[in-house]
Amino acid sequence: MLRRCCASVLARASGASGASPAAYSTVSSAADVAALVDRYDTFLLDCDGVLWTAEDLLPRTVPALAALRDAGKQLVFVTNSSLRSRDEFAQKFAHYGIEAAEAELVPSTFAVAQHVKTHHRHVKRAFVMGAAGLRAELEAVGVEAIGTESIPDAPFGSEPDFQRMAAHCAAEAAAGNGVDAVVCGFDFSWNFKSMTYASLCLQLNPACELLATSRDAFDEVRFSTADGGERSAKLPAMTAVLALLESTTGRTAAVLGKPSAQLASYMHGVYGYDKARTCIVGDRLDSDILFGHNGGIDSVLVMTGTTSREMLAALAPESPMYPTHVMEQFGLLAGAAGVAIPDAAAAAAGK
Ligand SMILES: [Mg+2]
Repeated sequence: MLRRCCASVLARASGASGASPAAYSTVSSAADVAALVDRYDTFLLDCDGVLWTAEDLLPRTVPALAALRDAGKQLVFVTNSSLRSRDEFAQKFAHYGIEAAEAELVPSTFAVAQHVKTHHRHVKRAFVMGAAGLRAELEAVGVEAIGTESIPDAPFGSEPDFQRMAAHCAAEAAAGNGVDAVVCGFDFSWNFKSMTYASLCLQLNPACELLATSRDAFDEVRFSTADGGERSAKLPAMTAVLALLESTTGRTAAVLGKPSAQLASYMHGVYGYDKARTCIVGDRLDSDILFGHNGGIDSVLVMTGTTSREMLAALAPESPMYPTHVMEQFGLLAGAAGVAIPDAAAAAAGK
């Protein structure tokens, strides 16, 4: 059950919760927005499902960001999207007319590369099950990032083909020419041959690391139907490839995007925010909101992305994926700059 209460924004966020966990506060009125903005100095912002969906900017995204900047807030954009490098994300922000310095952007491609640079200095060569942006970030920290072009160009349609591939990987590992890590990010070009090759790299070299940008199961994507209506469907994401690699190797991937505690620690170290006055705004319970919990900061769930009313209603307040606040859409923060707050029905319709 949703609860509207400006005072609850302050009560829950300040830990005045008593014996049992407090219900989340709902941010919907101008007073709620003002209290939320006043409560925090730093806003960590997810992107897809918060600022935009697919290729469409969500309503009032730009004025909401401007309102936060006008109020002197520190903004950091942190996304599990792994198709783009940090530089490419900067170009996407510019395309949307969103003001953001490159230093404010933390895509999971960048997060993985920074983790490798700091914690896996022995990784000199990596097989990348991911897009060009992930390879670019790894190359930027001195890792030779190879992809499907490195797989022997031989037929792969039978068990003997698999045997030849396995013999090749075993020989490479024995000669010290194998890869030090398999790094996974979402990529539309995943295929069975490349996933099998990655599995063999791991199976035949016990020292090979398994790293991933996220464990997101799917993205909820809306599409237009032939009768002029609109529906949504789940686009398979990281769970698909990690299930194959983990089940065939016995490894557990180190996930370095949200909700990892390593990323939370890295970001706190780099941006130096006061955790008590920082929140993350996101649309996913299992990445954004859990990231807030793992990083010791509050969270704001927006309803413009992956999380449905039913998913939210099914959560117990004790869950680490339970948000501190719920807001219909990020654009409501435009009210902080004096822009009129739309009524709830209009907000729900995304108008
Ligand atoms: Mg999102």
